Amino acid sequence: MFLIKYCLQPGLMAGVLALWYFYRDTVWIYPVVVLSVQLLLGALEYKWPARPDWVHDAPDKFMLIAIFISMYVFGGAIAAPIYVETVNPLLSQMRASMGLDFWPDHWPILVQVLLAFFMSEFIWYWFHRAEHRWGWVWRITGHGSHHAFKKLGAIHAGANHPLEILLVLSLPTAIVELLFGAGLAIGGSTLLLLTLAFIAHSNLDLNTKVIGWLFTTNRYHIHHHSAVFEESNTNYGCAAIVWDRVFKTFRDAATVETGIGPTQPSLWEIFIMPYREPKDIETAPVTD
Ligand SMILES: [Zn+2]
Repeated sequence: MFLIKYCLQPGLMAGVLALWYFYRDTVWIYPVVVLSVQLLLGALEYKWPARPDWVHDAPDKFMLIAIFISMYVFGGAIAAPIYVETVNPLLSQMRASMGLDFWPDHWPILVQVLLAFFMSEFIWYWFHRAEHRWGWVWRITGHGSHHAFKKLGAIHAGANHPLEILLVLSLPTAIVELLFGAGLAIGGSTLLLLTLAFIAHSNLDLNTKVIGWLFTTNRYHIHHHSAVFEESNTNYGCAAIVWDRVFKTFRDAATVETGIGPTQPSLWEIFIMPYREPKDIETAPVTD
């Protein structure tokens, strides 16, 4: 499908940014964009999957939808209030005391969005690299849970452990918004980031040329989910690939198999991974 391969990723990026630009004062833009992009990608994956054997049967799909919704509810109802009470005031205080008043408020808003996006991805790159470098970080953040799935799709962008949402995934955006003072631009940056993360996990045949210089495509991110340890230690950027190019962790190669070992653990085993890892795990870093 020519349209999907060449137009889907740039079209969605431009469409989401345009929607945010015109409706950025409304709160509904965020759930509407998340749901719409997920529904679109899910429908395309069902009709034109890159790997037909990765299409989920109905029970698996319902389970993944339940996990996706649970994680977003957890993020909004638990992680966000915790941040409002603890992390956010701390970051604001640090910004005031360190005098970090350099955010370019006078720049065009879409340029500010891109600046916030690449700054946030820079921080995520190092957090993510740390998760794969040190066994204790991998364990305490539950990052292995996200890597446990053998068949990927757009919906897996929401298949993370609650600990990872709380400790890692929410932090880069908070830092850029409050420590560096991105303010309004953080809304557009977050929507762009989520859209690209959904695309990065999608089971679709997408072009990587040109767009893949700066932004992550699913070919790159699926390689990060490889069941081969060395291959999983590449392509840490879920939305921006440029930092992998800068810091020499970029790899453009096909992926045979994803997951953390030969089999996919049960949902319960995936949930308790911070406490106990499955025995046949192959991609976890060694605990120092
Ligand atoms: Zn990872």
